[in-house]
Amino acid sequence: MSGTLMSTYSRLPVSFTRGEGIWLWDQAGKKYMDAISGIAVCSLGHAHPAVTEAICQQAAQLVHTSNLYGIPKQEELGQTLCQLSGMDKVFFANSGAEANEAAIKLARLYGHRKGLEQPSIIVVEQSFHGRTLATLSATGNRKVQAGFEPLVKGFIRVPYDDLDAIQAVAKSSPDVVAVLVEPIQGEGGVRIPADGYLTGLRALCDEHDWLLMLDEIQTGIGRTGKMFAFQHEAIQPDVITLAKALGNGVPIGACLAKGKAAELFQPGNHGSTFGGNPLACNAGLAVLNTLKTDNIIEHAAKIGEQILSDLNESLSDISAITEIRGKGLIIGIKLDRPCGELVKQALEQGLLINVAAERVIRLLPPLIISDAEAGQLVEQLSALIRSFVSESAAA
Ligand SMILES: *Cc1c(COP(=O)(O)O)cnc(C)c1O
Repeated sequence: MSGTLMSTYSRLPVSFTRGEGIWLWDQAGKKYMDAISGIAVCSLGHAHPAVTEAICQQAAQLVHTSNLYGIPKQEELGQTLCQLSGMDKVFFANSGAEANEAAIKLARLYGHRKGLEQPSIIVVEQSFHGRTLATLSATGNRKVQAGFEPLVKGFIRVPYDDLDAIQAVAKSSPDVVAVLVEPIQGEGGVRIPADGYLTGLRALCDEHDWLLMLDEIQTGIGRTGKMFAFQHEAIQPDVITLAKALGNGVPIGACLAKGKAAELFQPGNHGSTFGGNPLACNAGLAVLNTLKTDNIIEHAAKIGEQILSDLNESLSDISAITEIRGKGLIIGIKLDRPCGELVKQALEQGLLINVAAERVIRLLPPLIISDAEAGQLVEQLSALIRSFVSESAAA
C-alpha cells in the first residue's frame, strides 16, 4: 500500500477519509473517537468551520508571496501571539523543529554577542525537541539520536525537574547561555515537574544572565488549560516555541522572544521561504479567535480535571497503574509494563490513543470534547485497560 514511502513510521492499518469534531471516519465508514488530535494538533477538532472558512477564504485570495514582502496576516498573528504571551517579537516557521532551530540559533547568537565563542544550552533528560540535527541533538532520547552522529555540539544535559543539577552546571560551565525545556514533557511520557520548577528556572536564568527558553510546541495554545503552560506560574520566559495546535492542522511554527532575546536576529541571520505565509497565518488567527470567543481553554481546564478524577475513580482498583497525571487535556496513565499493544486494541474498538515512553497511555483529546464524549472516553478506555492488564503480565 505504501511501498514508495520511506519507512519513517510504522503505521497503524487504518486511513481516515473524513472528520468532524472529535470524530474520524475510515475508508469503510467506521467511526473513531480521536483522543490524540493528530498528536496535539487538531485542538478545535476536525473540520472546524471557522478554520475551514479561514483556509478557504485565504486560499481564494492569496496563498503565498514570500518574506521578501510585507505580509499583513503574519503581522496580525504575531501581534495577537505577543499580546497573549507577553512576548515582544515572533519568527514564523513551518514546524516545531524549525521553531526550536530558531530558538537554538537565538541562544547561540546571544552567546556570541557576549563574547562566548562556544556557547552551550542546558537541556534535559527524556526531552523531545524535534528531528532536525540540532533539535535531535537537544533531545534527551538516544533512540532519536542513534545513527545520526556526529551530533550537534553545545548541549549540556541534566535531569528534568532538578534545579540543583542546573546550579551545579552553572558552577562548572562558564559558556552556558540558555536553558531549553518543555513545561510538561509530552513525548517523554506526560512528565509534569513539581510546582515552582519554572519559577526556579527563571531565577537561575536571571542570576546567570541566561535565556529561559520554553518548548511549548505540545503544551501551548490551550492544551494545559491556560493559553501557555508557563502561565500556570507567575513567570515570563525569554523565548517560547510553538507549532502543533497553532494552525489546527495547517503547518505553522513560531519562535517568540522577549526583551534582549527579541533584538538578536537581524536581516540575513535567519529565514524561511514558506514561514508565516498568509494561508497558515489566517488559519492561526482563526484558531486563536475561536479559542477566545468560545471560551474553549476554560472548558479544557475543567473537562481535563473531570477526566482525571473520573479516571482515578474508575481505575482505582487496578494495581498495574502506577500514576494518573495531567494538566488540562494532556493526560498520562502510567502502567507498570509496556502497553503499546493497547493502541491497536483501542483502534479496533474505534478509539484513537497513543503510548509514550513505552508505558504511558497519552491522551490529547481535542479541547472541544463535550462532557458526554469525555464520559464515553473514560468508560471505553477504562474497560480496555482493565482487560489489557488482566491478559498481560507485569514486567
Ligand atoms: C512535536 C514536538 C516537536 C517537534 O515538532 P515538529 O512539528 O514535529 O517538528 C518539538 N517539541 C515538542 C515538545 C513537541 O511535542
